[in-house]
Amino acid sequence: MSRIASIQNALRQTADGGVDALLLTDPISIRYAAGFHIDDGAAVIASDGAWLVTDSRYIEAAQAAVSDMTVLCVSREKPLDTILAELLSGYGAVGAEQNRMSRADWLKYESKLARSLRPADDILATLRASKDAAEIALCTAAQRIAERALDDVLGLLRPGMTEKEAAAELVYRMYKYGGEKNSFDPIVVTGPKTSMPHGVPGDEVIRDGDFITMDFGTMVGGYCSDMTRTVAIGHVTDEMRRVYDTVLEAQLAGIAAARPGVTGRAIDAAARDVIERAGWGAYFGHSFGHSLGLEIHEAPNAAYSNDRPMPEGAFISAEPGIYLPGRFGVRIEDTMWLRGGGAEVITRAPKELIVL
Ligand code: ZN
Ligand code: ZN
Repeated sequence: MSRIASIQNALRQTADGGVDALLLTDPISIRYAAGFHIDDGAAVIASDGAWLVTDSRYIEAAQAAVSDMTVLCVSREKPLDTILAELLSGYGAVGAEQNRMSRADWLKYESKLARSLRPADDILATLRASKDAAEIALCTAAQRIAERALDDVLGLLRPGMTEKEAAAELVYRMYKYGGEKNSFDPIVVTGPKTSMPHGVPGDEVIRDGDFITMDFGTMVGGYCSDMTRTVAIGHVTDEMRRVYDTVLEAQLAGIAAARPGVTGRAIDAAARDVIERAGWGAYFGHSFGHSLGLEIHEAPNAAYSNDRPMPEGAFISAEPGIYLPGRFGVRIEDTMWLRGGGAEVITRAPKELIVL
């Protein structure tokens, strides 16, 4: 089913009886519906039609790229609000995305369209939670680029190099190998900073006997990759190795528990149990994983707080960690596609402890 057809199908399936038309104003939502990125403009999807409204900057490319929506162009005579008011005039209940619009914009649209809008965030959120093969192909392509960059960088890491230098090498190579842009600012931390799950790369220098944690990703076709590897420089202590092996065992337990129909809480618990049994439960503060796709953090999460079953097609990270404050930390992150009776791990980079 085409993307537009699946949205049309879902218009009626919301908890409160559905809507006759859906107004999208968020660039990510528009991209999901249209398969095309515009910074401004809007999309309208109704049961009997779909429209993309853009401006002269995008119109030529949009007309070439978008085939299953009517592409309209704003003008001085017909600004966006006028076009939207005309398009929506024939429909009763019109939904929009409250979580993706400021309160001010919501009120502005209600005023300009002279109608009330109904919150309808769950329509796209539900569809986006289940990735299809084409989406996973893009995430996988981005992941392969990140892995190739990592492969290079593992040959470059050495004592004396700063976190920023290592981060720059990763970013440079992800662009060089075809990534569109970073899917988020890379995290590269070394030594005691590895105990900070979201530390920022600084001028700290890699030293012999340090862990270095690299969490990074790139994008292809608007879709994100996300991976973390922790490697050691020179040598490791027995404790460092025990922590590393526990994180890896926890990650494998979470992956083994992950499949459609299992709650986010159960996946998180499978990994957390391993870390708790090893005595480090207090040092795994974040959740096991998050969904990703057009955005680096999407719902649903593989988290204690999520007691809903994972949908078929969920694409989630598997990223447990142990962080010993002021000393060191370890995180290992892969991504996986949940379908059928299990989880297909997309990441291929090795994850046994590497000591460079
Ligand atoms: Zn990550
Ligand atoms: Zn992640």
